[in-house]
Amino acid sequence: MEFVKKLPVYEPSLTGNEKKYVMDCLDTSWISSKGEYINKFESGLAEYLSVKHATAVCNGTVALHLALIALGIGQGDEVIVPTLTYIASVNAIAYTGATPIFVDSLADSWQMDPADFRRKITANTKAVMCVHLYGHPCDMDSILPIAREHDLFVIEDCAESLGSLYKGKHTGTFGDIATFSFYGNKTITTGEGGMVVTNDETLHDRCVHFKGQGLAKHRQYWHDVIGYNYRMTNICAAIGLAQLEQIDTFLSKKQQIASWYREGLNGSSLTLHEPVGDIYHAYWMCSVLVHEAKDRDVLRNHLEKKGIETRPLFYPVHTMPMYSQKFARFKVAENLGWRGMNLPSYPGLTYEDVTYIVDSLLSFYANAPISTYK
Ligand SMILES: *Cc1c(COP(=O)(O)O)cnc(C)c1O
Repeated sequence: MEFVKKLPVYEPSLTGNEKKYVMDCLDTSWISSKGEYINKFESGLAEYLSVKHATAVCNGTVALHLALIALGIGQGDEVIVPTLTYIASVNAIAYTGATPIFVDSLADSWQMDPADFRRKITANTKAVMCVHLYGHPCDMDSILPIAREHDLFVIEDCAESLGSLYKGKHTGTFGDIATFSFYGNKTITTGEGGMVVTNDETLHDRCVHFKGQGLAKHRQYWHDVIGYNYRMTNICAAIGLAQLEQIDTFLSKKQQIASWYREGLNGSSLTLHEPVGDIYHAYWMCSVLVHEAKDRDVLRNHLEKKGIETRPLFYPVHTMPMYSQKFARFKVAENLGWRGMNLPSYPGLTYEDVTYIVDSLLSFYANAPISTYK
């Protein structure tokens, strides 16, 4: 039988202090949502980003919900969000009762189109959610002045952009409030987990208040708002702290993987997601566009037979049943969504793995009729 390699799109690297710290939680019985690892993980991430406050939560989706609640967003409000994003960005807006208003993407960076953002602002617009998709920062120099001019809050969804820099500054430090995810395939993981960060003390206090059942400050079992239980456990934070200790290694490994793909695919008909402008693309995912949308799924099947897992780019959310009531076209997002796919992108990939993936990609085109491809 022929040996087929198995290369997933992602798998976490748990080769640091994860086990040691988790055992410490078990040995000391600090396994719930109080404990020293929570404080260490929160302050560690805040320090890494150079941001004043961070509060840990149980996943990236509730981090977004909490951020929106902290800003007081709800029924009757509109929040502008790219249609090309993971579903959670949009769902979190819907949870509050606010209406998500979609914007198109830019063809080169794949990020929110600032001109379309401006066009979508109405008297009801309360906030804009910048999603730094796949680890490429949004064009903050264009977005922030528009938000300021119209008195809008800026939320950054940094679930995919831990370590990404815009003009030398971390994503998550530009807006009023920002969120991270530590799901199993994110740049650092806690299994399930998230974080809300901000420089605004009031917003931070509101997040802590709402994530802990709306408990009043100076009276036990007295609750003054309808809160939530969105807390992270000490065990998750222990894993997170161990992961955070390795962030520089993960990021440089991802940079190397991206450069191997770049080198291997140079001159082919596949377009790698490249950095645009003065930014650091953290390459949460290495993604490519095929020349013609019709080839994308055929190519994905070809790779699957070779043991290589891929993912389609996110389907633009405005095309999904619960958000598609009003017909609208978002030409760039749709074009990217139908042509794009994520390649294996985890830090444990070796040069041989990436060479095998590149060869498998190129062999698809070598077997195809020449006239179809440039
Ligand atoms: C992963 C992700 C989230 C949600 O995070 P979970 O931890 O899975 O809830 C939100 N937004 C984006 C863009 C993501 O990629």
